[in-house]
Amino acid sequence: MSVPRRLTVMAGPTAVGKGTVSADIRQRYPEVWLSVSVTTRDPRPGEVDGVNYHFVGPDRFAEMITNGELLEWAVVHGRNSYGTPRAEVEKMLDQGIPALLEIDLQGARQVKATMPDAQFIFLAPPSWDELVRRLTGRGTESAEEQQRRLATATVELASQSEFDHVVINDDVHRATDEIAQLMGIEPRPVSGA
Ligand code: 5GP
Repeated sequence: MSVPRRLTVMAGPTAVGKGTVSADIRQRYPEVWLSVSVTTRDPRPGEVDGVNYHFVGPDRFAEMITNGELLEWAVVHGRNSYGTPRAEVEKMLDQGIPALLEIDLQGARQVKATMPDAQFIFLAPPSWDELVRRLTGRGTESAEEQQRRLATATVELASQSEFDHVVINDDVHRATDEIAQLMGIEPRPVSGA
């Protein structure tokens, strides 16, 4: 069996449940380090600066690009900028800690260009109808924003073949266990199960 590659990149269409899967990994697989991205978007209710994202203004984001502080970055849904702080990722990889990035497709392509040894996982919805249901059910975006995100999702779904693995998010714990396994970690049962 080959040695698991240490950097894992997870991408997938909007509202597929990347945030829920990330939260489950954080809780059940604390040995995985999850990168905290920088974004120019406003926090949603309940989001904490430094935990969900580092929330910054556009000037600071531009400065980070100029200084080469970002491993990758993208404007997502044609609106806000998101990026991965480079130094943190390199520090974790140097220490041999399994690291996971949860980013969009454009970002995943950039990482593939600079770190081809990383492994790329596409998190897919069980079906298109289910994706639409999850997106509209969240209720945090306006109708216009939902349309914009569905348009992005259509393009993103077409890119599955660029990835090393496709994980279907039909059940959060199951999907998380599969991702852990791909990262070389023994899946463990849900506590209390
Ligand atoms: P949201 O605004 O719903 O938290 O995230 C919107 C999108 O931005 C998601 O598809 C998410 O994967 C993506 N995203 C979050 N962080 C990053 C990042 O650091 N880089 C890139 N390229 N995309 C990101």
